[in-house]
Amino acid sequence: MLEDLVTWAEIDLDAIESNVRAFRNHVEAQVEIFAVIKANAYGHGAVQAGKAALHAGATRLVVHRAVEGIELRRAGITAPILLLGYTPPAAAELVIQWQLIPSAITVEFARALSGRATALGATIPVHIKVDTGMSCYGLMPDEVLAFARALQSLPGLHLEGVFTHFATADWLDLIYTRRQLEIFKEVIGTLHLTGIDVPLVHAANTAATMRLPEAHFNAVRPGLGLYGMPPSDDWVPTFPLYPALSLKSRVSQVRVLSAGSAISYGREFITQQPTRVALAPIGYGDGFHRAFSNRGFVLIHGRRARILGRVCMDQFVVDVSEIQGVQQDDEIVLLGQQGDETIVAGEIAALIGTINYEITTSLLPRIPRVYLRDGVIVERNGFQLT
Ligand SMILES: *Cc1c(COP(=O)(O)O)cnc(C)c1O
Repeated sequence: MLEDLVTWAEIDLDAIESNVRAFRNHVEAQVEIFAVIKANAYGHGAVQAGKAALHAGATRLVVHRAVEGIELRRAGITAPILLLGYTPPAAAELVIQWQLIPSAITVEFARALSGRATALGATIPVHIKVDTGMSCYGLMPDEVLAFARALQSLPGLHLEGVFTHFATADWLDLIYTRRQLEIFKEVIGTLHLTGIDVPLVHAANTAATMRLPEAHFNAVRPGLGLYGMPPSDDWVPTFPLYPALSLKSRVSQVRVLSAGSAISYGREFITQQPTRVALAPIGYGDGFHRAFSNRGFVLIHGRRARILGRVCMDQFVVDVSEIQGVQQDDEIVLLGQQGDETIVAGEIAALIGTINYEITTSLLPRIPRVYLRDGVIVERNGFQLT
């Protein structure tokens, strides 16, 4: 059924659902799962991953920006959608129109939102992001109380949540994370003492959900783990995770190069002996990083084949001298399992100095996504051939 595709990604919806259920079972019953599906669900497809997560017990979806939330709404998703990042005041109208839940940090935005909300007779839930030690986005702890009061005084707004984000919850050593947690608890405590009700307090990413029950509060926000990838190799995931994405391609040419042949741009690899090579039709134009030049590998016939020369925009060459019988159209696995061998994102990420997050998130729309349930294709999106 996939014979017409040259390069594609298979996403196992059962794996995503099983991972969501594992998070669901790991936290107390009253703790909600907010599924983080930003950046196209780390490359897995936000709409499909979001639906699977909701089906498996997540109560909300989380993205970074309004445009991502609107994509989900356009696909018919009705669950609450939380925006983690900055929303400009000029986008207040969009937030209301598409029923998104913004995270606010400025009075300018709050006023704009309040103005639009009252004009429409709506009440808009808002979350406050607190910076407890990451210096990325959020209010400083000592700014939260005044801002919460300002929100409360504005008509049409409902302070629904307060949240923070951990910088090093994936580290073996949790000292810094615990320090951030203490700061966050103090902020929440101050709000409570002042009589400000915060229905939803949330902080934990995948690593903190797994390792720090004190950080669960009312909801957890796992992302990476939903897709079956571990946040670190320094500790064993608290429960098994099933990688959801396999990246596949098809041998587009096989031949034997004579000794002294230069491979790919820049002639960086010169064969030392007659070498049987296969061409893999995937490149940095698909989001398969150029940094894999001369160092990455793929699976063919269940065995590892090394990348020779530079990764081009559309293709690269691998050495199949040691793999018997490789033919045009044979399946290539770049991520996932083939025979007894498996390539996980974390392993190839380490080769090029990045993290598993970036490997799957980099996969571009040129790669069709194929969705499976019970091993059967239930949906194909992206570039359609029919
Ligand atoms: C991306 C993100 C998450 C999810 O993090 P994972 O490590 O992928 O679980 C949670 N919260 C915020 C604020 C994020 O930006």
